[in-house]
Amino acid sequence: MKFQLKKQHSFVICIIILIFFLFPLFFQVPVYSAYPPEVRVEISLLNTHVELSFNSGYSLVNMASGAPLPLPGGKYRLVSIRGSIQVLDMLGNSQGVFSGPLYLKPLSSQPNSQFFQIHNARFGLEYRGALEVFLDGNTLRVVNILDLESYLRGVLPREMSPSWGNYGGMEALKAQAVAARTYALYNHSLQRHTNFHLCDTQHCQVYGGKSSETENTDSALNQTRGEILTFNGRGISPFYHASNGGFTEVPQNVWTSSFPYFTSVPDPYDDPANPLGLNNFVVHRYARWEADVPLDSLGLLLVRSGFSNPGEVERVDIVSSFPSGRVQEVRIQGMDGAAVSLFKEKARNVLGLRSQLYTVRSEPEPRVWIASSVNGVERKECFPELEGKWVISGYTMKRMLVGESFPVLGDGVKSSVPYQGLVFEGHGWGHGIGMSQNGAYNRSRAGHSYRDILSFYYPGTEINTGY
Ligand SMILES: [Zn+2]
Repeated sequence: MKFQLKKQHSFVICIIILIFFLFPLFFQVPVYSAYPPEVRVEISLLNTHVELSFNSGYSLVNMASGAPLPLPGGKYRLVSIRGSIQVLDMLGNSQGVFSGPLYLKPLSSQPNSQFFQIHNARFGLEYRGALEVFLDGNTLRVVNILDLESYLRGVLPREMSPSWGNYGGMEALKAQAVAARTYALYNHSLQRHTNFHLCDTQHCQVYGGKSSETENTDSALNQTRGEILTFNGRGISPFYHASNGGFTEVPQNVWTSSFPYFTSVPDPYDDPANPLGLNNFVVHRYARWEADVPLDSLGLLLVRSGFSNPGEVERVDIVSSFPSGRVQEVRIQGMDGAAVSLFKEKARNVLGLRSQLYTVRSEPEPRVWIASSVNGVERKECFPELEGKWVISGYTMKRMLVGESFPVLGDGVKSSVPYQGLVFEGHGWGHGIGMSQNGAYNRSRAGHSYRDILSFYYPGTEINTGY
């Protein structure tokens, strides 16, 4: 049994929901004076200072005076000090204090072929283009300035596995390139940030700079240069996800509003049963999943998400589903008559399920695993058998999350105890709207072009070339 709940993933979902309610379904394709357009991308840091290295191909300029600082290439530390930016060398000697902003200017006429380093960046190390460092209150902000295509070179490898290109997936990478470019311009048009266009986190798209670039993703971008998805001439919001489990979905069955460029149809290229009998079909790791939820933890899960506690649970039923099989309503019935209904994606989020495409059954005797016990107190451990299991830790039961680590105090699972539980069996990973990355991969392996792939997942859209 496998069960994983990624914190980052639910964060992305929340953000996508937020976008959905706050922002329009389309964006006006912008007209830029130069192509590809320049984007300003905030680089998130691990600390409050900036550790910056550059070589003689750059000059650090104080933008307040317009004067270059007489600093040779090397490694510097920039810190916020009493409303100014102080530049220190690596020995800690001050090289000056400036009101800012400071601008790291590439001296060559090909600024995107040069790169510098930000050693304490969260998602990357090397970056192309230019850099601006300014103070926002007392917080140092770091913005990478580069053209859109160079930006996407640092985005695409974070969105889809570049190695897929070696196994027949180049057309999937190209489809993802068009989706990522469209999504970048969509976010750009929303003006969700001040002083920069895009951030480098999941809020916009994860951007790892030059450090993330690969040959396959660069090639996918070059072969689709400037191409974006439009519907009646306007840019779309190209939702995508890991796997649809064999059926695509429309947004109104997950959230509320409807969009004209999504449909809900079977997707044999992402159905783990491989109904077409393709001989090189790849089944996504999470095309099928199973998750246990102990009955007596349901109340806690509901209360945590702001619902009332129905008390001791009598039964859990799927009341209604959509044509895709995705669940519309789950009802949790308490012994004393109180009941809670969860609708659409809500149930998935509350229960921590991978997708909305599932069935539920009660299991009289599944197990809770006790990892180890020291002085009578059970401790959680992180080893593969425990991923997704419910683990007793002292007084509480807790689901193990992937990537969590705990001190290892024992040498394996000590014992298990039966509990009354529910078993959810499902298909797919993600909301199911728009492009399934796994489906795109199988389509590519089956010989479909990226244009075929995009027109299946975003029906009625066109590919427009901005530059
Ligand atoms: Zn953002």
